[in-house]
Amino acid sequence: MIWHEWRDAPDAEFAVIGDPVSHSLSPVMQMAALRALGRSERYVPLRVPKGEVAEAVTSLCAKGYLGLNVTVPLKEEAFSLFDCAADPVASVCGAVNTLDNINKTSANTDGPGFIDSLADDLTPTSEALILGAGGTAKAIALVLHLAGYNVHVFNRTRQRAVQLALELGSRITVADTPDIAGKTLIVNATSASLEAASLPLDWANADKLALAYDVAYGESPFLQEAASHGLRTLDGKELLVAQGARSLKFWLGVEAPRDVMRQAIA
Ligand code: NDP
Repeated sequence: MIWHEWRDAPDAEFAVIGDPVSHSLSPVMQMAALRALGRSERYVPLRVPKGEVAEAVTSLCAKGYLGLNVTVPLKEEAFSLFDCAADPVASVCGAVNTLDNINKTSANTDGPGFIDSLADDLTPTSEALILGAGGTAKAIALVLHLAGYNVHVFNRTRQRAVQLALELGSRITVADTPDIAGKTLIVNATSASLEAASLPLDWANADKLALAYDVAYGESPFLQEAASHGLRTLDGKELLVAQGARSLKFWLGVEAPRDVMRQAIA
C-alpha cells in the first residue's frame, strides 16, 4: 500500500502512524471494515519518525483526521498526548495504540485484543509463559494476569524481564529459563520471528494440549516447531483483527465486522 510522510498526509479521516509503516496490514483491514459498515472514511499509512509524534498528531488533528492507530516504535511516545485514565492497560503499560482526535482520548487495544483473540482458549488459573519483555509482552502479561493466569516471563536479556515485573507491580514471575513444561499457553511476544530466528525451547517437554501463540503474522520457526511437536498454533493476525476491531469501536462506537477484517488480511 502507498504510504506518506506525515507532513505530506493526504486528505483522510483515519491513519496508522509508525516507522516503518509500509508493512502494516491495518490500512487494508480497516478500509475493508469501514466499507462493510457502509462508511466512506479513508484510512491511510503515515510514516512518523520517533520524536515527532506530538507535532504530527497536532498537524493531523488540524487536517481533520478523526482517529489514529499507533504502531512500533511510537506507542510509548503517544501515551502522554491524550487522556487514557479510563484504560487500565494503557495506564499501567504507559503505551497506547489508539487515539481519538475528537475527544482527545487514547487507549491500548493490544492487551484486550489479545484476550479476545484467545476466544475458547482462555483458560484462567492455568500457567502461561510469555517470551519477550518489550511493550507487547508487557500488555499481554498484564491482561493475562487480570484474566486469572499465573504468568511467567522469560526474556533473553533477563534484566528487562525484571524491570517488566517491577512495572507490573510484581504480579508476574520472572523465569530464569524458557521452561514450557506445564504451560497451557506459550506466547512468543519477541520480535525474533521478524528475523526468522528460533528460540531455545525444549518442545519435547510441552503439554500437547498447550496453545503456541506467536504475535507475528504468518509462519515462523516458533509456530513450525510447536506444530511439529503436536501443539495447536495461532499467529498474530487474529490479534491484529481484534485490536483493530476495538480501535474502530473506540472511534465510532460500533461493532466491527471481524470476518470481513479477517478476510481482508488472509
Ligand atoms: P520490542 O522491541 O519492545 O521488544 C522486542 C523483544 O523481542 C525483546 O524482549 C527482545 O529481547 C526480544 N527479541 C528480539 N529478537 C530476539 C531474538 N532473536 N531472540 C530472542 N529474543 C529476541 O517489541 P514489541 O514488544 O513492541 O513488539 C514485539 C513483536 O510484537 C513485534 O514483532 C511486533 O510486530 C509484534 N506485534 C504484533 C501485533 C499484532 O497485531 N499481531 C501487535 C503488537 C506487536 P531483548 O530485550 O533481549 O532485546
